Amino acid sequence: VAISNGVDDIRIRRESVTLKELIGGGQFGNVYKGIFTQDDVHVAVAVKVCKAENEPADMQLILQEAHVMKNFKHDHIVAMIGVCAENPIWLVLELAPLGELRQYLSGNKGALSATTQVLFAYQLSTAVEYLHSNNYVHRDIAARNALVSNANCVKLSDFGLSRALDYDAVYTASRGKLPIKWLAPESILYRAFSMSSDVWMFGILIWEIFACGVKPWTGVSNVDVVGRIEAGDRPSRTTDCPESMHDFLVHHVWAFEAHKRPVMSEIVRVLQEVQEQLKRW
Ligand code: ADP
Repeated sequence: VAISNGVDDIRIRRESVTLKELIGGGQFGNVYKGIFTQDDVHVAVAVKVCKAENEPADMQLILQEAHVMKNFKHDHIVAMIGVCAENPIWLVLELAPLGELRQYLSGNKGALSATTQVLFAYQLSTAVEYLHSNNYVHRDIAARNALVSNANCVKLSDFGLSRALDYDAVYTASRGKLPIKWLAPESILYRAFSMSSDVWMFGILIWEIFACGVKPWTGVSNVDVVGRIEAGDRPSRTTDCPESMHDFLVHHVWAFEAHKRPVMSEIVRVLQEVQEQLKRW
C-alpha cells in the first residue's frame, strides 16, 4: 500500500537488518543490538522493535517523528538510520555501545573526573542548543534519555518518540507518572512546555551528571515538589558539582519565571568556560 506520509526516504528493507541480543526495554517496545547491511558494509545498530499492539494513530506519529529525527544530524544526538515501516515497526538507530548515561554514571561513581562530567554536560548542551536552533522543544530532557557512545562521548537518545505521542498519554497511561522532578514549575502547573522549560530540565540533567546518576529531589514526594520550588527550594549541591556551576543553576537556570532563565546557547558558553577553568587547574 502506498501511503504518502513523507516517510519513504527513511524506509529500509527489513532483510537488511539482522537482530542480535536484547539490550533494553522501553515503553514502545524492546531494543535489540543489530547489524545493518548496506552495499556490503555492516554497521552495528540498535533496533527498537515497536510493540505490534500500538494504536494505528500512534504508529503514524512514530513514523512521522522518525522522519523529523532523521533530519537532525548532530555529533551528540543518536542518529536515526531508518525505519522498517510495516508492522511491527523497527526503528534502526545508531548504537550507543555503553548504554544509558544514568547507569554509566552510577556504575563509574568515584572514577569519573570533573572534567568528564563537565564534558558530558557540555556535549549534551550543544545537542539541545542545536534542537532549539531548529525550533524544536525536547520536553523530556533527563539523564535517562542520554546514552553513552564511549568514555568521552554522550548523546541525546531518540527523544522524538515521547514527544510525538500525547505527552499525558505517554506518562500517565504507559509510565504511570509525569517526570515531575525534572519539570519546570510551569510544566507541572499548566502543562506549558517551551525552550525555557527545556532549559530548566537541562539544569536538572547537569545536576544528575554531578550526582552520578542519583535522581533529583530524593525523599520528596511528587506532589510536594512544586510547593518546594515555589517556596524557593532547589536541588542541593552535590559534592562533585563546582560551586560556581551550582550557583548558576540555582540563580539562573532554575529561575521560577521562565523568561528569566538563560537561553541554551548561554548554558553552552558557561559549560565551555567551566571546561577552560578545569584545564587551568
Ligand atoms: P523508550 O523510549 O521506548 O522507553 P528507550 O529509548 O528508553 O525506550 O530504550 C530502552 C533501552 O534500550 C534504553 O534504556 C537503552 O538501554 C537501550 N537503548 C535504546 N536506544 C539505544 C541505542 N541507540 N544504543 C544503545 N542502547 C539503546
